[in-house]
Amino acid sequence: MLYSNLSVNDKGHLAIGGIDACDLAAEFGTPLYVLDEDRVRENCRTYVKAMQEYLPEGSMPLYAGKALCFKGIYPVIASEHMGADVVSAGEAATALSAGFPANKLYFHGTNKTDAEIAYGVEQGIGCFVVDNSNELKVLGAEAQKYGVEQQVLLRVTVGLDPHTLEAINTGRVDSQFGVPIETGQALRFVDEALKTPGIHVMGFHSHIGSQIFEPDSFCDQVDRLLAFACNVRDELGFVATTFNLGGGFGVRYVESDPEVDIAANIRAIAEHLNAGCSKASYPMPRILMEPGRSIVANAGTTLYSTGGTKVVEGYRNYVTVDGGMTDNPRYALYKSDYTIINASRANAAADFECTIAGRCCESGDRIAEGIRIAQPERGDIIAVLTTGAYNFAMSSNYNRVLRPALVMVCGGKARLAVRRQTIDDLLALEF
Ligand SMILES: *Cc1c(COP(=O)(O)O)cnc(C)c1O
Repeated sequence: MLYSNLSVNDKGHLAIGGIDACDLAAEFGTPLYVLDEDRVRENCRTYVKAMQEYLPEGSMPLYAGKALCFKGIYPVIASEHMGADVVSAGEAATALSAGFPANKLYFHGTNKTDAEIAYGVEQGIGCFVVDNSNELKVLGAEAQKYGVEQQVLLRVTVGLDPHTLEAINTGRVDSQFGVPIETGQALRFVDEALKTPGIHVMGFHSHIGSQIFEPDSFCDQVDRLLAFACNVRDELGFVATTFNLGGGFGVRYVESDPEVDIAANIRAIAEHLNAGCSKASYPMPRILMEPGRSIVANAGTTLYSTGGTKVVEGYRNYVTVDGGMTDNPRYALYKSDYTIINASRANAAADFECTIAGRCCESGDRIAEGIRIAQPERGDIIAVLTTGAYNFAMSSNYNRVLRPALVMVCGGKARLAVRRQTIDDLLALEF
């Protein structure tokens, strides 16, 4: 099995955190998102422990809620001593309504609306990651209204091109995110922020991309951030006390993906930064990171009921499932690889080559092509692994398909965390 929390029980069924996947499907219905809370906690602890061990006091991982945002995740994140980043009033409200402390929230977004900025300041959100100077002015004015000094990080682009997918590559100079260092604009941005009443600058943020496996890109990023910070110190006399390196550590979707040793990567980044700071006589800043995918992806499994197989003779075999691009658009968007198991026959030979097709009226509605699973019969439960990140979060009601329920498993027990959408929910907003 791809992960240690998955096993095959004596009925030959897939078990997730010790619970029979077919039983979960029978009790809660399909499609079903299953999130292994114990695995989420393990992932959190890997970050917290390594950052405490290798980085200055105050360094901390912030959970990037965009990967998987629902109320039930936030008590887990809070109890693991992490902060969280949010990118909209909706994500902020989700965290706050679950009791997440406002002062440990970081408000992101490339085009925060005036209403969102006002909401964030009013709620006492600890830090804004300011994307550009348009936003700076509005934020400063709002902070002054409340008589507070709003802590901020300034988002800069370091001009890096990590080898990752175009759609999730955000660190290049030509990007809609943040302000570029290379053109000199970032320095002017800092100068402006330092002069804006109501704004307290703590440091800089940069995010270079996603699904990155090696520490090298992060070390390059750290070099560029540090060089920029030194330039800011020399030109403006300001010393940053926080660097936020963003998210982006990769996860293993299929056997051929490398194993990522997150602790070793953090250590390598820390040593690199330490050496750079000594050389530049720059005080070592505290470090924030924003893992999303690597916290939740491998804790998630999606269960479907299959409608059976369709053999197009001379071409290929299709296995249809009762969900698809509506609950998991990642294959349609990025041709993402997944490991898929017939959970009802987890011990049988995986020798049936097939394409897993969803139920939308779109030929692109597929979850995988050319994979092998044990040949299913109608009603078998098909498990797609590593769906904790960017699945629930990206789900839609296309074709008026209802959104699945989400169940959390913990210590051998399952509990409903998000109920299945109903037709009434679907119609509730319409006159
Ligand atoms: C997407 C994103 C993250 C999370 O990235 P992962 O690859 O899920 O770890 C963190 N920070 C920012 C600014 C992002 O845009």
